[in-house]
Amino acid sequence: MTRFIFITGGVVSSLGKGLASAALGSLLQARGYQVRVRKLDPYLNVDPGTMSPIEHGEVYVTDDGAETDLDLGHYERFTGVSATKSDNVTTGRIYSEVLGKERRGDYLGGTVQVIPHVTDAIKKFVTADINDEDFIICEIGGTVGDIESLPFLEAIRQLGNELPDQDTMFIHLTLVPYLQAAGELKTKPTQHSVKELQSVGIRPDMVVCRCDRPIPESQRNKIALFCNIGPESVVPAIDVDTIYQVPINYHKDGFDGQVLKHFGIEQKIEPNLDSWKRIVSRIQEPEGEVKIAVVGKYIDLPDAYKSLSEALNHGGIANNARVNLDWISSEVFETNEGIKKLGNVDGILVPGGFGVRGAEGKMMAARFAREQVLPYLGICFGMQMAVIEAARNLAGIKNAGSTEFGACDDPVIGLMTEWHRGDSVETRGAGDNMGGTMRLGSYPALLEKGTLISDIYGGTSIDERHRHRYEVNINYREKLELAGLKFSGLSPDGTLPETIELLDHPWFIGVQYHPELKSRPFSPHPLFRSFIAAALAQSRLV
Ligand code: GLN
Repeated sequence: MTRFIFITGGVVSSLGKGLASAALGSLLQARGYQVRVRKLDPYLNVDPGTMSPIEHGEVYVTDDGAETDLDLGHYERFTGVSATKSDNVTTGRIYSEVLGKERRGDYLGGTVQVIPHVTDAIKKFVTADINDEDFIICEIGGTVGDIESLPFLEAIRQLGNELPDQDTMFIHLTLVPYLQAAGELKTKPTQHSVKELQSVGIRPDMVVCRCDRPIPESQRNKIALFCNIGPESVVPAIDVDTIYQVPINYHKDGFDGQVLKHFGIEQKIEPNLDSWKRIVSRIQEPEGEVKIAVVGKYIDLPDAYKSLSEALNHGGIANNARVNLDWISSEVFETNEGIKKLGNVDGILVPGGFGVRGAEGKMMAARFAREQVLPYLGICFGMQMAVIEAARNLAGIKNAGSTEFGACDDPVIGLMTEWHRGDSVETRGAGDNMGGTMRLGSYPALLEKGTLISDIYGGTSIDERHRHRYEVNINYREKLELAGLKFSGLSPDGTLPETIELLDHPWFIGVQYHPELKSRPFSPHPLFRSFIAAALAQSRLV
């Protein structure tokens, strides 16, 4: 039997609903249950793939090629369950489905309306593709009171009515602010937010209160009274130093226990959270320390590189080291100022990116790492820029470039118009839509035995997630390999370069895929583990 837990948010955005959902998932797992975490996003984009990372944060990619909200990254990292296309939907996608049906005539002449047609499509999404999980945790994006999220709230209200009573639970996450002048925690915003939720017919079974300090019992009682719930159903969510502390604190405050009680499940055993505790103590009391420069374009919003900074943290956990990140704007390099900033770093990472702005700066960062023998990890765009740099300055191909920046004499990076996925061929044209037309999702690659990267993975056969339009041009392989840039990993048909490494360098690797998407706190990705180890070795040299 599958039970549904709906998580809404109130008062303000950015309260950490995604983390709360992920942490609850991990706690239920620790008690032996199968969980799946899903997200409903109220915006009108069909998916976040076409949104700027500065606007909306990182675009997360699933194995099956969906471009999703970054919260799905939290879900995967906390629960270890790989997300799929069925775990994230937007208003835009729901509407395009409904409108597609209308054009086909599927509604048989009926008037197409938000209720029931849009809400039916939402309910179908929430309840589809379930594989006997004990719990589906479903996060509703946005804040209660927004016009945009109303159809989602209406749909989950209906589900609450239609499914057996004991199979659903509504959790509302709010903010309890501390007012300096009054010297008090204030519960009024929570009361108003719950009222707002009740006005659309949803009565929360539990209120989780984000707060920067412990909430006194009197305030908890007050919230309970106003929200028609018991005080034990008012759960504090106090700010933490590291996100991996969240499940531990929630458990201490009775979150998962109370959820099970709601469903009438007797709690026989306490969950074992030792592995979470170990991770937290590694993060809080590391032995070593490294400084990594991340040279990118979207550095103003930390969420733009969420999985990347988590994966670097995981590399630190694996090496018992604190990883300090120095975010450097790639454009700074074009003025030569950037090189100075790289003077005291132990490793350089150039992450994924799009467009010509800042590209030359990224090439300069790659060149610096090559010439100064610093560990370098180039991810996707970061690999492409390292290849152009090596082509120009090692292989003497002076006009080497990427067709992403316009036509060029030597397109060492070019648009791929056809590629294989299993037995099928996927195609793309230069004039195709922007949305959903990249090489997306998990693809296999074969690594050459004896290369650094195959040592790092401990094998030659890998599967990693992709999100890009351009590829390293295999026709330049010979020239580049003669110059010392090894094509160490290829697609199984040998046409698409997947990984490169510099032969005359202890740790210089580029990968066409995004390894950060598959790194987990309990199993740090081998590339990040090895990159941080190389940076640690570097830090001991100076
Ligand atoms: N802009 C490059 C491409 O489309 C790289 C994309 C990325 O870094 N994810 O191929």
